[in-house]
Amino acid sequence: MAQKQFQAESKRLLDLMIHSIYTHREIFLRELISNASDAIDKRYYHALQDGESGLTRDQFEISITIDKEKRLLTLSDNGCGMTKEDLETDLGTIARSGSLDFKKNNEQKEDIDIIGQFGVGFYSAFMVSDRVTVVSRAHGADEAWKWESEGADGYDIDPSEKDSCGTDITLKIKENTEEDSFDEFLDPYRIRSLVQKYSDYIRYPIRMEMEKSRLKENPDAKEDDKPEYETYTEIETLNSMVPIWKKSRSEVKPEDYDQFYKEKFYDYEDPARVIHSSTEGTATYNALLFIPAHAPMNYYTRDYEKGLQLYASGVLIMDKCADLLPDCFSFVRGLVDSQDLSLNISREMLQHDRQLKIIASRLEKKIKSELLSMLQNDREKYEAFYKNFGLQLKYGAYGDYGAHKDLLKDLLMFYSSREQKLATISEYIGRMKADQKFIYYACGDSVEHIASLPQTERLKEKDFEILYLTEEVDEFCLTMLHEYDGKEFKSVSAEDLDLESEEEKNELKERQEESKDLLEAMKADIGDGKVEAVRLTKRLKSHPVCLTAEGGLSLEMEKVLNAMPGANADVKARRVLEINADHPILAVLSDLYANDREKLASYAKMLYTQALLIEGMPVEDPVAFSNQVCELMVDKK
Ligand code: ADP
Ligand code: MG
Repeated sequence: MAQKQFQAESKRLLDLMIHSIYTHREIFLRELISNASDAIDKRYYHALQDGESGLTRDQFEISITIDKEKRLLTLSDNGCGMTKEDLETDLGTIARSGSLDFKKNNEQKEDIDIIGQFGVGFYSAFMVSDRVTVVSRAHGADEAWKWESEGADGYDIDPSEKDSCGTDITLKIKENTEEDSFDEFLDPYRIRSLVQKYSDYIRYPIRMEMEKSRLKENPDAKEDDKPEYETYTEIETLNSMVPIWKKSRSEVKPEDYDQFYKEKFYDYEDPARVIHSSTEGTATYNALLFIPAHAPMNYYTRDYEKGLQLYASGVLIMDKCADLLPDCFSFVRGLVDSQDLSLNISREMLQHDRQLKIIASRLEKKIKSELLSMLQNDREKYEAFYKNFGLQLKYGAYGDYGAHKDLLKDLLMFYSSREQKLATISEYIGRMKADQKFIYYACGDSVEHIASLPQTERLKEKDFEILYLTEEVDEFCLTMLHEYDGKEFKSVSAEDLDLESEEEKNELKERQEESKDLLEAMKADIGDGKVEAVRLTKRLKSHPVCLTAEGGLSLEMEKVLNAMPGANADVKARRVLEINADHPILAVLSDLYANDREKLASYAKMLYTQALLIEGMPVEDPVAFSNQVCELMVDKK
């Protein structure tokens, strides 16, 4: 019989498979098993429709046989089977135009893209075999047909024999080459482990004959005779059939979840929290998610890859589906199993995407509510969690131009000056004083450093709580949030802290006006446009000076931005040197302005340097500063 040609597109996909250098060729087994499972589903469904009696699910199975010598691997199912026409259309043409389009648009990319992202279907068999033979008998037909192909050249269809309906697919496994060994696909133990890895949860038993050995029974054996073994074969069911996530929560013991997590996700520690949920409706899926008890070694590096395992009706189709998790929750491990995806994922990539988006947004909400309940009901555990992943939440609130800030704001915590431990923003607001307008925060390298900042003195005097921000991202994060429950965040170094009465404000304005020339002179003395202005302030109590910033960019942000790799060091906050209006230094300065302008210049520079030191900013000329201080000491004698 003359060979038939594959449809042009099929030929292209076949070529791709045959010449695949893809390292995960093993997934061919997953594809064939899932086809077999689909075929059984169909057979079972039709039986139900036709009211065929006496058929039960446990009459169905998928079996695997291996003939090492002939290098044959056979998968058999007793599903719906295929007619001659089915064989032509289903195996001779290709339905998955979605993946081909993808390939067309990404021609330069490796095979891995198409194979890794999508189910590749029946043709994946050609990654490991140089001849594929399909013998099938459709349900209700009294004849069987054989389809056979050695690759892109085409295929043959001939009449064949088969006792009952179903399909046998036999792969002639490729010979080993210098670079590649294909023998593993003829090794029953390897096949068993592949079934367990990819197809454990297929709802029909996958059976294979396994060779085993046992102690030979010998009633005449003497005590010190060597024990003798004999081999025998036994049909083993390779898959467990019911995944833990398909069970109801009450059926699963906490330690089962923990065990599952550790085995599946290679962790040595139990998870901090297990999230098991099932949903029906616009999206039907089961999700089993875990929050690890510790951050992986590479978590805060580029090497870390986020994502959830994605199953379509129990069949693993993607190991790390990144689209299912927003970056802020990238620490979550786990899996999603959806029956909505099974057909779509291979046929229509777009639809698949939409479905995934719905699931992803549900999961996002679910993860948030679980974290929130942890925060409310198990504070200690939440704080441990926050130690590991709080930074990620803060980056998440800041990133994407604040797209996730509402999702995350309730989960954030910062060190509280009053409680001397972490507090949420809503806890802070609950403790705000009646006359307190803002949520105050201060930045620095450490809690101790911040606690000693002069800018915090007045606020503390008024008994206002301050959030201490010690992490680089903190202030960016709060700036992105802008407010919480209508209360604005305010840096202790911000222009207007709103601490004074109208009267005090006016008084300060007047005194500012009076000292205008002095302050201008000091600004010039400090030199080179280093400060935007020199001003009098009421925010200080015992300290003479502090440095603040005007506009949106704070000194802390300036530090962070300039420390970033590849930063060009020209990001500058608009610095303002503030002088305590109630400090005796002011009288000294006024006097120098009138009588000793040279000394005033020196003092202005010193005060500026002091302010830099207090802020933990680099001092431009430490030697000059040291000399100035020393001169002063000698002078005073
Ligand atoms: P998909 O499974 O996404 O439809 P495949 O390339 O895996 O794509 O399979 C193509 C088609 O071949 C299937 O849709 C099905 O109609 C048919 N088929 C494959 N394997 C079997 C089988 N074991 N029994 C019955 N039909 C099968
Ligand atoms: Mg398939």
